[in-house]
Amino acid sequence: MNFLWGRPLSTVFLIGVIALLSWPLLGHGGALLFLCMMLLGLLLHHLRNLSLLYRWLQHPQSHSLPTGSGAWEYLSSHMLKMLKRQRETEARLNEALSRFQLAGAALPDAVVILDGADRIEWCNPSAENYFGLDNNRDRGQQITYILRQPQFVQHLASEHAGDPLVLRMSRPAGEMVLAVQQVPYGENHRLLLGRDITRWERLETTRRDFVANVSHELRTPLTVVGGFLETLADMEVPDPEMSRRAIGLMRQQTSRMTRLVEDLLTLSRLESAQSPSREEDVNVPEMVRALLHEAQALSAGHHQIRLVVESADWLKGNTEELRSAFSNLVSNAVRYTPDNGAIEISWKVRDTHLVFAVKDNGIGIEPQHIDRLTERFYRVDRSRSRETGGTGLGLAIVKHVVNRHQGLLDIQSTPGSGSTFSVLFPETRRLATGRPATPAKMLA
Ligand code: ADP
Repeated sequence: MNFLWGRPLSTVFLIGVIALLSWPLLGHGGALLFLCMMLLGLLLHHLRNLSLLYRWLQHPQSHSLPTGSGAWEYLSSHMLKMLKRQRETEARLNEALSRFQLAGAALPDAVVILDGADRIEWCNPSAENYFGLDNNRDRGQQITYILRQPQFVQHLASEHAGDPLVLRMSRPAGEMVLAVQQVPYGENHRLLLGRDITRWERLETTRRDFVANVSHELRTPLTVVGGFLETLADMEVPDPEMSRRAIGLMRQQTSRMTRLVEDLLTLSRLESAQSPSREEDVNVPEMVRALLHEAQALSAGHHQIRLVVESADWLKGNTEELRSAFSNLVSNAVRYTPDNGAIEISWKVRDTHLVFAVKDNGIGIEPQHIDRLTERFYRVDRSRSRETGGTGLGLAIVKHVVNRHQGLLDIQSTPGSGSTFSVLFPETRRLATGRPATPAKMLA
């Protein structure tokens, strides 16, 4: 028999014994009355403790737990222990819950917990941001009342719910592309996960466009070369004049493909690392002088080319990359300036920047094209670019090189009047030689 039974029964037994002992003294009526009084007292004692316990149970607090006496004292101490254990478990659960919520809040992906009727039970801040939900306001709301896109509603009801759905959400800052997936768990519950794939989608589109562009660029020269080869192979009697012309044109096309592949390799090298692999002291004044000769050779006397070197400063950077960028700008100026036009190549200090600039009075560029010129394969006039041996990658290379040197590419142009392409380098890249600039105004 346990303590809870033992104590009350032994009290009743004791009362019984005392009543029996009092019998000779009080007579049987007195003893019975005494027994009833004692049992009534015991009953009142238990009723009082029961009512105290009941009252306490309305607002159970460890400090206000009625202590009682006898069996009640024992009961109280047990309940106190139980209460303590419960408080500890509660604290542990609260801690685990807040840890879970903190982890959920830190997740870069959206997480929404849905009940069996697709009502929102909880969502993290990323979900608020991606799906436009509010964890406090929308709890208990059916998610399809908020996300009403038909393909999302269909996806939620679909049997192939495991496959991610690509959802496009319009946001004030532009379109956001989400990969949405649902994962069933527990009884009838679902986790709705959302990942922002906007950047990935953009990269994927760029990659697809790039492959299409490269294929397109290679197809024309390959078709030309293939056509000539077929004609030459079909000729029973070789025609020397025709063969010479065909070989000349095939050579033109193959050198176009070579240029394209070289530019592609340069771009891929530039894109594979954030900054130049090797940095050295670049003697820009000497480099621009060499560029002048390059421009003269390219122009073959069709333009007036001037060199202005107003600074003797060198630059911290990568010689090869800078030469390739500057040379692209110079060759563009020659290619997009009609005969007898004027071109100026300069190296100057402007405020705190060192500036390499190429100015021409050529065909110029309409303002709507300017922002897109540095995109790969973007050309204003496709046929002119091709005729002059352009690959459409020159300014993309320039932009990469400039970025890797923390510089800025500035394009000023007026259609019909000419363009100025300037590359501004920050003060931190400047290597002051201390020597005055050698007067180097040359005219070709
Ligand atoms: P491309 O090989 O076609 O010249 P780029 O990337 O070097 O490719 O230049 C992109 C486009 O920018 C050119 O196709 C041309 O339309 C325009 N462009 C570049 N430089 C000049 C310039 N100096 N004058 C006029 N248009 C230019």
